[in-house]
Amino acid sequence: MATERPRLVIATRSEHKLRELGELLRLRRAELLSLEDLGVPGEPVEDGLTFEANATIKARFAASATHLPSLADDSGIEVDALGGAPGVWTRRYAGPDATDADNNAKLLAALQGLPPAERGARYVCVLALALPGERVRGGGLPVTVRRGTCRGRIAPAPRGTGGFGYDPIFEPAREVPAGRTLGEYSVAEKHAISHRARAAGRMLPILRDLGF
Ligand code: IMP
Repeated sequence: MATERPRLVIATRSEHKLRELGELLRLRRAELLSLEDLGVPGEPVEDGLTFEANATIKARFAASATHLPSLADDSGIEVDALGGAPGVWTRRYAGPDATDADNNAKLLAALQGLPPAERGARYVCVLALALPGERVRGGGLPVTVRRGTCRGRIAPAPRGTGGFGYDPIFEPAREVPAGRTLGEYSVAEKHAISHRARAAGRMLPILRDLGF
């Protein structure tokens, strides 16, 4: 008799994040399901002021709706010259319906004329795992969070078509100024250094302990 695979919800509607997380976690047993797969309607209000808070909101929303363990990603970019902005507002940096191209153009304009040494930035990814069941004190489902970062700088202009979001204007720290952007990295190269890979690596032992 075939044993049933344990189900893990990836609490995102972003195809990019779903694919990257699947590739990074490479769980041996789990069946990964998206909110679309499970027909979960609606969106949680992401009104946290930190990546941890927003990842927790998304993971708890999914676990409450599906009664399944749920993993959420909240991520963004922090730019030194902007005092850490756009941070948790990364996706909406150029407005509520901003496209990746809008966001990249706004960031390039904000840093126009700055030399490489003043264009430092880091990607941040926080993964939150919410488990259905007993609520903790304060009312929410129990959550475990893990963070990963990737240091780099904002390129003078977009280059490359790989990755997504800010990748065409993000040069990893290992590159010389005006070297390759993440948009010019292969999938494997991005996975070797990315903020999401680092957060996933830190979450993996917890998922394995849970039997995924
Ligand atoms: P969220 O979906 O609210 O977590 O927003 C994430 C934002 O950060 C979006 O604008 C993404 O494009 C951006 N972002 C997160 N991770 C990456 C990445 O690996 N590459 C490029 N952009 C990213």
